[in-house]
Amino acid sequence: MPEIFDVIIIGAGIAGASVAANLAATHKVIILEREEFAGFHATGRSAALFSEIYGNSTVRALTRASRNFFYEPPQGFSEHPLVCPRGSLFIARQDQLAQLACFADQNDVNGWVRAIDASEALQLCPILRADYVAAALLETGAADMDVAAIHQGYLRQMRSAGGTLLTNAEVLELTRSDGQWCARTREASFRAPVLVNAAGAWADLIAAKAGIRPLGIQPCRRTALLVDTPSGIMASGFPMVIDIEETFYFKPDAGLLLLSPADESPMEPCDVQPEELDVAIAVDRVQHATTLTIPRIRKRWAGLRSFAPDRTPVVGFDPLREGFFWLAGQGGYGIQTAPAAGALAAALIRDDLPDELITLPIEALSPGRKELGGDGSNRRNT
Ligand SMILES: Cc1cc2nc3c(=O)[nH]c(=O)nc-3n(C[C@H](O)[C@H](O)[C@H](O)COP(=O)(O)OP(=O)(O)OC[C@H]3O[C@@H](n4cnc5c(N)ncnc54)[C@H](O)[C@@H]3O)c2cc1C
Repeated sequence: MPEIFDVIIIGAGIAGASVAANLAATHKVIILEREEFAGFHATGRSAALFSEIYGNSTVRALTRASRNFFYEPPQGFSEHPLVCPRGSLFIARQDQLAQLACFADQNDVNGWVRAIDASEALQLCPILRADYVAAALLETGAADMDVAAIHQGYLRQMRSAGGTLLTNAEVLELTRSDGQWCARTREASFRAPVLVNAAGAWADLIAAKAGIRPLGIQPCRRTALLVDTPSGIMASGFPMVIDIEETFYFKPDAGLLLLSPADESPMEPCDVQPEELDVAIAVDRVQHATTLTIPRIRKRWAGLRSFAPDRTPVVGFDPLREGFFWLAGQGGYGIQTAPAAGALAAALIRDDLPDELITLPIEALSPGRKELGGDGSNRRNT
């Protein structure tokens, strides 16, 4: 006999963990995760930056609504601070000044940044080349996130409220009958009226298994590598440095420097690995902008950032299929938006929106929005 739950969540990345933690006190929840451990895919592979000016305006709104959680998490959530301040520095060459000005002009950017000249940028990050940087924007409110502490904190919160995480449990089949979803894995079946699709790069495949129209969520590979910091330079206080056109970025990471070519190659969902060419591009671009020479790479990896066609996350009930909830398409912002997105998802499932979430852009996040081919309607949990 299938085990009965109130909510089945597919995927134990940051999305599944955050909604589970928010629901477990009031609902009997189970997370089904295909891999041997939670966080194996995108969640365990991020660059861990919290920036309130990254992404589009909907992403920024979710990130800002998540800020308090990171700085003042619930008692007992984690033994470690979840964030540690680290400025983000958006740099421009002479020929990119128009892009820098255009970026700074946006309403939900200009109050969060300070325009600085090249010499101040070089003071903040002395490895930048004086003949490369013409001007920059400094976001002092940005921070490094401790992704493992955040992710484990959510899983612990869920478990202590009675929720279950089942790993090595790939969902192979989804059916709906008598007002309940049935999720079948190799070993067992589970039933619940509500199913949450938090499957990251596999979100559209999960929809297809459930007989639901996919939303066009596209996984894109992003590469990262760790290299030595230059000897004699205290790099730990450098800001995260991001090219204004996002063709590369770098930041200190546990005594090393994390580099990325900011690649975005469309892929089929998989356990993605880095391509040598992307690694070489990252090294080349960073060497071009800085005085660094990079003789060897300590570590390299890649992960999938999954985007809806309008680059906005999808949070809400499917407009056409009862009990199917989307929590997907978090792109490159899934960690920094998780507190608000997880709380919103849980509130929509409970059909009880607290005052502090009412101001979130719920329509813009809805799977029924026009940008995703819907009619703009929002389905509720009825
Ligand atoms: C290089 C890189 C840098 C990034 N930098 C940042 C950053 O600085 N800041 C930020 O906020 N975000 C960043 N991100 C993005 C962030 O990592 C993602 O948005 C976030 O981790 C997505 O979480 P998720 O839970 O949706 O997906 P995932 O962590 O991929 O979790 C989905 C889970 O679903 C499981 N699953 C899929 N299909 C099934 C099935 N059939 N049955 C059971 N389980 C299934 C998978 O195994 C997986 O564990 C970065 C990502 C990358 C790759």
